[in-house]
Amino acid sequence: MDAADVSDDLLHVLYTEAQIQDRIKEMAADIERDYEGKELLIVGILRGAVMVMADMARSFHRHVEMDWMAVSSYGSGTKSSGVVRILKDLDTDISGRHVVIVDEIIDTGLTLSWLTSNLSSRNPASVEIATLLRKPEALQMPVDVKYVGWDIPNEFVVGYGLDYRERYRNLRDIGTLAPHVYS
Ligand code: 5GP
Ligand code: MG
Repeated sequence: MDAADVSDDLLHVLYTEAQIQDRIKEMAADIERDYEGKELLIVGILRGAVMVMADMARSFHRHVEMDWMAVSSYGSGTKSSGVVRILKDLDTDISGRHVVIVDEIIDTGLTLSWLTSNLSSRNPASVEIATLLRKPEALQMPVDVKYVGWDIPNEFVVGYGLDYRERYRNLRDIGTLAPHVYS
């Protein structure tokens, strides 16, 4: 669905489908350049990163392997619990591999800082992070992020994989929710 389908629920649209697609192509081009001549494994963090992974992987003009992890760091609301637990681990042995973790948003940084050190302990050749969105004002843990789509204000956003109570993930655009939706 697009923003027009849920216009009553959105305060405003932050990024349209077209803007998102353009930015992801640019990020993929950066990654492609940096990993030239190297095998690359991209690791998507379920479930939010599904859309970013699907579009980024298809933007590459080269082979790329894809794997997935699921971690829990959020409840059903809009606040981070700070607790990270692996719900689904990688199927791939990453020792000696070049890994890029792909996520849709970095908020407090708790999830990705924990995940980066977890994956680093498995002796990969390298681990970097690519995220479509980042909220610099919300950051609680320092995370070294190599590829960022956009830095955004500290607001709760939905769409393009990002949910509110499992809704809006299939929204093509990214927007902020109107207060009546969550109050
Ligand atoms: P962090 O650990 O950096 O606080 O965020 C971890 C996860 O929380 C993100 O991957 C995402 O799933 C969720 N999250 C953080 N901020 C937002 C937001 O503004 N909207 C939605 N829908 N999810 C968010
Ligand atoms: Mg996520």
